[in-house]
Amino acid sequence: MPTAHRAGRPGVNRRSPGQTRCRYCSRVLSTLEHYSGDCCSRPPCRERHLQNQLEAFRNDSARQIETAEPERYAIVVIPHRVGELVPVEPDRLRALANHLVTLTAACAGQPAAPVRPDDAPGTVPAVCSSCQGACCYHGGNHAAFLDEDTISAFAAQHPDLTANQISSAYLHYVPDLHFANSCVFHTERGCNLPRTMRAAICNHYECRGLKTARELGQGSHPALFIVARHDNAIIRGEFVNGSGVLP
Ligand code: SF4
Ligand code: SF4
Repeated sequence: MPTAHRAGRPGVNRRSPGQTRCRYCSRVLSTLEHYSGDCCSRPPCRERHLQNQLEAFRNDSARQIETAEPERYAIVVIPHRVGELVPVEPDRLRALANHLVTLTAACAGQPAAPVRPDDAPGTVPAVCSSCQGACCYHGGNHAAFLDEDTISAFAAQHPDLTANQISSAYLHYVPDLHFANSCVFHTERGCNLPRTMRAAICNHYECRGLKTARELGQGSHPALFIVARHDNAIIRGEFVNGSGVLP
C-alpha cells in the first residue's frame, strides 16, 4: 500500500469576532468566518487558501520523506472514500442478472461489427489507483451503467453469442469481493470488467483531478502529488512519478 501522509489540524483563531481580517483580501470577517479561520468566504480567497494549504501539505510531506524540490510535483486533488470489501450481495447480483436478461433479449443477434475504437482519453492510472474508484460507487445504483448501447456493441463484436451467453459473459466477471454499496464490479484492483465490456461513461468519465493529471502528463507519466480530500479536509497524499509511488 502506498505511504500516506496525514494533514495536521488547522490553527485556531484566538482573536475576537469583529477584529479579524481576511488574510488575502483584508475584509473584516463575519463571526462565522472568524470561527472558521482567517479567510473570508469569497470564492477567490477560498481558492487561494486551499492552494496554500495543499502546497504546505505537499512541502511538509516532502520533508518527511526527504524528497527535494517538492514543487516539481504538480498537485492533483481526488475524492476520498473509505470502502470495505464484502462478498457481492445476493440482491445486488440478482438485480444485475435481471437487468442483463432484459438488455440481452433486446440486443443479442446484432450484425457483426468491428471492435469500437478506444477513443477514451489517455488515463493516468496512478490517480485512479490512489483513489480506488470513488466514482464507481455511482455504478452501485445504476447496474454498472450497463445499457443497450454497451450490450449492443458487445453483441456486435460477438455475433454468435445468444442472449444467455452474453449475460453469462458479463456475470463471469463478478468478483468474489467488491466494495460495499458500490458497483458489483468494483474491486480493490479497480474495475473487474475488461474495458471493451464497460459502458461508455466508465471509459470516459474523468473527475477534475484525473483531468488535470492527464492534461499535465500529455500521454507521459507526470510527477504528481495526489491529495485525497473529503468534507473540505485533506485526508492523505502521495508522491508518484514515472517509477510509481515514492516510498
Ligand atoms: S476518475 Fe476520479 S473519482 Fe473516478 S476513480 Fe479516477 S480519480 Fe477517482
Ligand atoms: S463497471 Fe467498472 S468502471 Fe464502471 S462503475 Fe463499475 S467498477 Fe466502475
